Amino acid sequence: MAFEGLSERLQKAFSGLRRKGKVTESDVRDSMREIRLALLEADVNFGVVKEFVKNVREKAVGAEVLESLSPAQQIIKIVNDELTATMGEAAVPLNKSPHIPTIIMMVGLQGAGKTTTVGKLSKRLIQQEKARPLLIAADVYRPAAIDQLQVVGKSVGVPVFEMGTDTDPREIVRQGLAQAALQHNDYVIIDTAGRLQIDEKLMTELADIKEIAHPNEILLVVDSMTGQAATDVAKGFDERLDITGVVLTKLDGDTRGGAALSIRKVTGKPIKFIGQGEKMDSLDVFYPDRMANRILG
Ligand code: GDP
Repeated sequence: MAFEGLSERLQKAFSGLRRKGKVTESDVRDSMREIRLALLEADVNFGVVKEFVKNVREKAVGAEVLESLSPAQQIIKIVNDELTATMGEAAVPLNKSPHIPTIIMMVGLQGAGKTTTVGKLSKRLIQQEKARPLLIAADVYRPAAIDQLQVVGKSVGVPVFEMGTDTDPREIVRQGLAQAALQHNDYVIIDTAGRLQIDEKLMTELADIKEIAHPNEILLVVDSMTGQAATDVAKGFDERLDITGVVLTKLDGDTRGGAALSIRKVTGKPIKFIGQGEKMDSLDVFYPDRMANRILG
């Protein structure tokens, strides 16, 4: 189950406080130490942990809290609020273009769930807005990637523009956008190439595609199971592409929580959606407060 270890550790930190009628500063210090360890073990970015603990401690040692009738309850609330703030306060909607099409560029490392997310997002847009998206297959390095996008497109009833693997992805995007203009598609979703790791050639190609397509949204798809590495990947992509949002996948797995809790603070960019399964309907809007509740169990 996602966040299992983190939830258990946080509950343990609180149970120490709950047992006491009156909570002292030294009790708060003990529980802060446990919270700090819980976050580090969940693979949360070190700087994020530091700031988190500092903020909670500052609020928790306030006289009103310690002298209140339910100090433990109040500290739990402070932690809950800080978890929410760390992940971004409120849900952030998709950026839309004032005129059609809204162009969404999907980027990410291979295996993160990019192609699956393209399908899920299409399905969501069709269901919620009766949208008519066009998918552009711009991953020419793995022949299987185009086939996979075709399969995904078919399963959600969305056409795929592709030119095989012999054309430069920049040209594919140009022609795909021209096709979308002719067909009056309201959304264009560009499936770009993923690599096993960030490399210069990939980044240059993505930067070029950005220049050509002027996307309204550059969504980075990251695998939540990879924790701290997901945060580093997000930082790398953001520095180069100035992404507009993140999709965190595989939250149905037993992710420890590090990516969910670090990405917003490290990149400043919002997590917009979460993937919670392999099926096409398992994409949900990311609500920081709900995620905080889920983490606190
Ligand atoms: P890409 O290489 O980034 O395009 O990744 P794919 O879309 O091919 O996904 C890689 C694998 O992860 C596939 O087996 C997907 O079914 C799986 N996957 C993607 N998103 C999720 C998710 O949210 N939960 C789970 N459990 N699996 C996912």
